[in-house]
Amino acid sequence: MRIIFKGGSAWSPGLGLFEGLAIENGRILAVGPEALKMTGEVIDLDGGFLLPGFIDGHAHPIFAGREAQGPKVNNLQSVEAIKEEVARFAKENPSESWIIGGAYEAAIISGGDFDAHWLDEVVSDRPVVLHAVDHHTIWVNSKALEIAGITAKTKDPDGGTIARREDGSPKGTLREPIAFDLILKHAPADSVESDLKAIKYACQELISAGVTTATECWVEPPMAEAYIAAAKSGALTIDMHLAFLVTPQNWQEQIAYIQEMRAQISKLPEPKRLKANTIKFLTDGALSSGTAAMLDPYLDNPESTGLKIWDDTNLIEAISAYDLLNFQVHVHAIGDSAINQSLNAIEAMVKANPKWDRRPVIVHAQLIAPTDLARFKELDVIANFQPLWTYLDPMNKELIEPRIGAARNNRQYQLRTLLDLNTKISFGSDWPVTSHKPLEAIFIPVLRKIPGTSEQAWNITEAITIEESLTAYTAGSAYQLFREKEVGSLDVGMRANLVILDKSPFLDTDLQIVALWRDGEEIKSS
Ligand SMILES: [Zn+2]
Repeated sequence: MRIIFKGGSAWSPGLGLFEGLAIENGRILAVGPEALKMTGEVIDLDGGFLLPGFIDGHAHPIFAGREAQGPKVNNLQSVEAIKEEVARFAKENPSESWIIGGAYEAAIISGGDFDAHWLDEVVSDRPVVLHAVDHHTIWVNSKALEIAGITAKTKDPDGGTIARREDGSPKGTLREPIAFDLILKHAPADSVESDLKAIKYACQELISAGVTTATECWVEPPMAEAYIAAAKSGALTIDMHLAFLVTPQNWQEQIAYIQEMRAQISKLPEPKRLKANTIKFLTDGALSSGTAAMLDPYLDNPESTGLKIWDDTNLIEAISAYDLLNFQVHVHAIGDSAINQSLNAIEAMVKANPKWDRRPVIVHAQLIAPTDLARFKELDVIANFQPLWTYLDPMNKELIEPRIGAARNNRQYQLRTLLDLNTKISFGSDWPVTSHKPLEAIFIPVLRKIPGTSEQAWNITEAITIEESLTAYTAGSAYQLFREKEVGSLDVGMRANLVILDKSPFLDTDLQIVALWRDGEEIKSS
């Protein structure tokens, strides 16, 4: 069936603004005047605005789904409010042996060290683990510390930290996955069944945000298995790209498992929503927790330059080994030292291995050394940014600036500079770290503040245009995911993944999603 959209504007990367779009058999048939001349079922946009479905190039949908099954402490602005929610959840779920949830706002406590005793006041009989919004920090109660056997004598694990009281005993806050693992390895393992529930929740949420293609950027067992089950049962309703997490300790032993998962996924029947061709490397932590790897020391702790999770040689070996197997590398790097190390490793990999269309990604890319800016383009590295982070938010103000000083803080997120250097940029939400809703994010790198507020713009010289912002969240991420010939623009022949807004993002910042189409069919978010 042929459908013609008219009665409002449309926009696509490469095409700009136009009116009229025709689709047929799930694909774009014609654009502009040619589409307006055609006959078919007419959908009146009613003054609304049409653009390609959003593509989230960096997210953690299963973590969001898992979190949604525990206490919901997002956006709560006091320790008391968080305790109340944990108490409510504990009371309503008496058979839950561990209470795990998130994500609390670490910036509500100066320094971000939360105390186990605060949680003990509401739950002391069962372990409680809450993730902070940065997802590089957890806050636990005393029962959790006790089960894990963490005492004053426990040393900080390599690549992680345990916040302590004056006497050296653990305070209740732990930083980086290797440290959480001391506790979470005692918790009941996530099952395919519970992760399937998380996937269903996440797909619904993404669809209602206008996202038709997304990524799962931290895949460990049994997440790939859960996605395979979701793809087979039809529960996977959007395109999903998996990136398997490997660590300095496990990257070699994981090769066989990851190849097996990729092979199984490549054999799934049409529609090929699920792909698994990417490896995630975590090279540092986060600025807010003092764990991002820096070239110069932290101001609040002059002995520390943060955490380097990989040593240089091991990182080069690991990324080169996976690159040789035609896996794309997706490297988390936040501090200038971690970004420098990642670029060096990618450079060594490119030199050592045969040429192919590899499209390496550095995600977050928050603080780039001036001498490294041009290397993104030189090495064809895609910079994946979180647009919602590109303003002076409470985390930058309260937790980051005191640790690194104003000069480095204000140098974060150089989107304009990178685009002017012809760097390929893509966008991702990092959900559940921050909101998965593109409409909450797309104006922030343009204004370098939240639209409609009287706050001053943050380092406005790094602002980009709305067109560039929309492009990064559509065609930019499609390129990152090797799907640029299918999705991310409205060129003739592309899959008809469409978002219809009530108003134009070129004229207004307060927008609503009116409808979402996937492969030529309207999908309802129930
Ligand atoms: Zn992430």
